Amino acid sequence: MAKDAVHKAHQRLRAHFGERQQWWPAQTAFEVLVGAVLTQNTAWTNVERAMARLLERDWLSAPAIIEAPEAALAECLRPSGYYNVKARRLRAACERWIELGEENGLRAMAPEAAREALLAVNGLGPESVDDVLLYGLQQPVFVVDAYTHRIFHRMGLAPARYHYHRLQAFFHERLPADARLFGEYHALIIELGKGFCRPRQPRCSACPLQSICQTGRSVT
Ligand code: SF4
Repeated sequence: MAKDAVHKAHQRLRAHFGERQQWWPAQTAFEVLVGAVLTQNTAWTNVERAMARLLERDWLSAPAIIEAPEAALAECLRPSGYYNVKARRLRAACERWIELGEENGLRAMAPEAAREALLAVNGLGPESVDDVLLYGLQQPVFVVDAYTHRIFHRMGLAPARYHYHRLQAFFHERLPADARLFGEYHALIIELGKGFCRPRQPRCSACPLQSICQTGRSVT
């Protein structure tokens, strides 16, 4: 039942919003890592401004970020907010990235081992790490965020008490292990969360999931 609903929701979202392949706006796995650190508590447009400043200074590489003077790096990251904290976290993430053998080293590891290795970096939480695994390294790990929790709870499919890994397992148990599918599904969930399943006053009567959603069906 829930398996059918998970598939059906994906089909409906895709029919409504269109394909969302190549969704994460980064050229390399390293850029996904940088974006995952900088996007915390800010809009993506601010991340793009900070990344453009890194690029202007020729600092968009792990060695350059590690070598950059801390105050100058923080200033460079100012558009992304919390720039002093993010400068420290980004440097720590870059040090770990190099220790682990960069993209090739991480690709050679099992997804679980790569996840554990990246989670050791202060400031990289499960969602950020899974962004890197999925969008940077094309590993089949489902990324869970606040939109996922809200939508699938309202649909009556996942209890609110589910923590990150339980909700991730919910998707892993019901979908084929396919990085392209996971990447697209996550992007479509974000579209729905922004445009329809908002925290307050969700737009159920216009939502493409209304007929398969417990909350949506109760709206007249
Ligand atoms: S029908 Fe309403 S509650 Fe259900 S997913 Fe859509 S917007 Fe959210």
